[in-house]
Amino acid sequence: MMKGKKGIVFGVANQRSIAWGIASKLMENGAEVAFSYMGERLKGNLEKLLADKPNAKMYDCDCSDESQIQRVADQYKADFGTCDFVVHAIAFADKSYLEGDFLPTPKDVFLQAMDVSAYSLVSITRSFRPFMNRGCSILALTYLGSERVVQNYNVMGVAKAALEACVRYLASDLGPHGIRVNAISAGPVNTLAARGISDFTHLLKIHRRVAPLRENTTPEHAGGAGLFLLSDLSFGMTGEIMYVDGGYNVTAVGNLDAYNLSADSKD
Ligand code: NAP
Repeated sequence: MMKGKKGIVFGVANQRSIAWGIASKLMENGAEVAFSYMGERLKGNLEKLLADKPNAKMYDCDCSDESQIQRVADQYKADFGTCDFVVHAIAFADKSYLEGDFLPTPKDVFLQAMDVSAYSLVSITRSFRPFMNRGCSILALTYLGSERVVQNYNVMGVAKAALEACVRYLASDLGPHGIRVNAISAGPVNTLAARGISDFTHLLKIHRRVAPLRENTTPEHAGGAGLFLLSDLSFGMTGEIMYVDGGYNVTAVGNLDAYNLSADSKD
């Protein structure tokens, strides 16, 4: 499905990363994939994951620094010439504010979450735009906490709302040039980043009890949907937020067994 296509994936931290689920599917389907990681520690993880691909290109980048993004775009262009896909799977917020109330969130924490988790999509897209082929597909990762309150998700929910708006505006800008921009809204996945959210294991438990498919979302689930959105199969879609969450988002009151109703003393 991806033979002859080349592009870059931002955000593989380890084998549990959603970005790795997507990159694996891309490579299985013939794509040439470059990677961007942040810092030496993550470079080691990537090298282990790519042990059977010794020639894979990897670029160090802190996406809060636009000059580093531009350097990666220049390096990528020198190595590959053109680009058919970009995966943005990065997010950050100070975990001290991913618990309790949203109200105390300080301005610097708010702005940093916005910068790394939302603005970086704009910055990456702008730096790669000059050498994107017609048909290029850009994919970001988001979560339901952008639209509805999920306890403890707090400032990250606000940043994801901004990210989703960026997807729509970029889709509008780039659509006339044959470049598409979409996002996957994944259910909770047990990753490094997610572990920073207070009581995240409770979220996982609630999700697998309530979601119609009664299971947790995996990087492989996101990988399959990512492959579709990055391939020509989805050529009629742009500006979309596609749910890959076992159907959780369609449920208001689902499986009654998931709620401990008999323990409610008001009845
Ligand atoms: P992950 O494996 O921890 O990946 C997140 C990546 O973002 C890490 O490689 C992290 O590097 C990187 N990152 C953070 N700040 C960065 C910066 N300034 N510059 C460059 N890279 C930076 O977690 P993940 O859950 O797969 O996250 C991937 C995407 O999926 C994120 O956008 C996340 O919000 C989204 N998502 C996750 C879930 C979930 O439940 N896991 C659900 C829906 C959507 P460090 O490790 O060095 O910080």
